[in-house]
Amino acid sequence: MNSLQEIWESVLALLGAELTPTAMNTWFSECSVVELSGNQLVIHTPSEFKRDIIVQRYAETISRALSDLFSAEMSLLVLAGEEIEEYREKRTVDDPFGIVVGDYTFDNFVVGPTNRIAHAAALAVSKNPGWVYNPLLIYGNSGLGKTHLLLAIGQYIHENFPEKKIIYIKGDDFTNDMVHSIQTHTQSEFREKYRTADLLLMDDIQFIAGKQQTQEEWFHTFNALYESHKAIVLTSDRPPMEMKTLEDRIRSRLEGGMLADVQPPDLETRMAITRNKAQLLGMVLPGDVVEFIAENITSNIRQLEGVVKRLTAYREILGEEITVESVRRAIKDVIRVGAYVPTADIIITETARYFGLEEEHLRGQSRAKEVATPRQVAMYLCRNLTNISLEDIGAQFGNRNHSTVLSSIRKIEKLVKTDSNTANIIRDITSNINSKS
Ligand code: ADP
Ligand code: MG
Repeated sequence: MNSLQEIWESVLALLGAELTPTAMNTWFSECSVVELSGNQLVIHTPSEFKRDIIVQRYAETISRALSDLFSAEMSLLVLAGEEIEEYREKRTVDDPFGIVVGDYTFDNFVVGPTNRIAHAAALAVSKNPGWVYNPLLIYGNSGLGKTHLLLAIGQYIHENFPEKKIIYIKGDDFTNDMVHSIQTHTQSEFREKYRTADLLLMDDIQFIAGKQQTQEEWFHTFNALYESHKAIVLTSDRPPMEMKTLEDRIRSRLEGGMLADVQPPDLETRMAITRNKAQLLGMVLPGDVVEFIAENITSNIRQLEGVVKRLTAYREILGEEITVESVRRAIKDVIRVGAYVPTADIIITETARYFGLEEEHLRGQSRAKEVATPRQVAMYLCRNLTNISLEDIGAQFGNRNHSTVLSSIRKIEKLVKTDSNTANIIRDITSNINSKS
C-alpha cells in the first residue's frame, strides 16, 4: 500500500463492489482523504448531510475494509465542511510539528552509496541549523527517502533545540494555505506564520513551480528566513534546472545552496533496508528471504517496505514460517498491487495543469494548436500509463473515435523519439502524475 490515496482508492473499490454507481457518486464523489492517524482513517466531505449518511450507512463497511487491508482494528472519522480547519488546528497543538514523524528518524535511515551525501547534509543541518547548507534541497524520484530525511531533520531539531519553531509543509499545501489567506484576508497572519519559523521544511516543492503568485510569496518567505539564518530544507522530485517553470531568481537561490540527490539503492543497501523494516515490524527474516526481496524489488524503497508489511500480515494469517516460496507468492501480489496505475482523470488534470489549461479544454472539441497538442499528449499518457482501450480514451476526450486517438498517440510517440523538448514534457508530466501515488 503506497499512499493515502491508494488506501482510499482500495476502500472505494471495495465499496464500489457493494454499491450502485449512483450511490457511490452521490455519497463519495466529493470525499477526500485527509490522513491516516494511528488506527484511524480521516476523510472529509463538504456537506454535513453527506457526512451523516456516510457515518450511518457506510462507516462500518469502510472500517471493515480498512481492518482487512491493515490486518488491524481500524476506524473511520468523517469530517464535514469546515470541521477540517478545526481538526488541523487541534492536530498542530497536539503535535508540535503537525505531523506524525513515527519511524522517520535518522536512526531508522539506512545509509548507502546512493544517499550518503543527502544523509550527511541532512545531519549537518540538524546539528547546526541555519548556518550550514542553507538552503538544502534533497531531490530524486518518488520513494527514495526524501520525506524520511526531511522529517528526521525535524525530529532531531525538535528534540535537541526544543525552543525552535518548526514548520513542515507540502508544496501544494503552501499554495492552498496562501490562496486561503487571500480569500479570508488573512495574508498578514499567513506571512507571520511562515516568516517566524526557525526551521522551514517544505516537501515536494515542484508543486509550486508554475504558480506565479505562490512563487512570489515563497520567494519573500525564503529571503526573510535566509537573511536571518533560519534553516530551510526542501525536497523535490527533480533538480532546479529541470523545473522549467520555476522563476530564475528562485532557481538561483536554490542552486546557491546545497543540492543533494537520492538515487535508487544498491543491493546491499536494499538488503539492509529490508532487515531494518522487518525489525521495526517485530520480525526477523531469514537471510535468503532478505536477499530474495532485495533482488526483486529494486527501484523503490516504499515498495520494499510494502512487501515487508505484506509479510507481517501473511504471517499472522497463515502462522507459517516465512520462506522464499511464501515470499514469492506475496511479492507476486504486491508487484501487481504496487504498480501505480493512474486514472484518466488524474492524467487529464495533471496534463491540463502543466500546460496551464482547463480540463474542459482537453476534454472539449477545440482544434486550436494550444489545445490540440496538449490533448494529444494526454491521450498518449493515457495509452502509456493505463490499460484503458482506445475507445475509452476517445470517450474521455469529447468522444473522439478510435482512429483519431490512435493517430494522436502515434504523433506524440514519434515526437518523443525525435524531439528532446517533447520527451522532457512527457517525463515531467509523468513524474507529476506518479507523485500523486
Ligand atoms: P520520498 O519522499 O522520496 O518519495 P519517502 O521518504 O516517503 O520517499 O520514503 C518511502 C519509504 O521508504 C518510507 O517508508 C521510508 O521510511 C523508506 N525509506 C526510504 N529511504 C530509506 C532508507 N535509506 N532507509 C530506511 N527507510 C527508507
Ligand atoms: Mg515524499
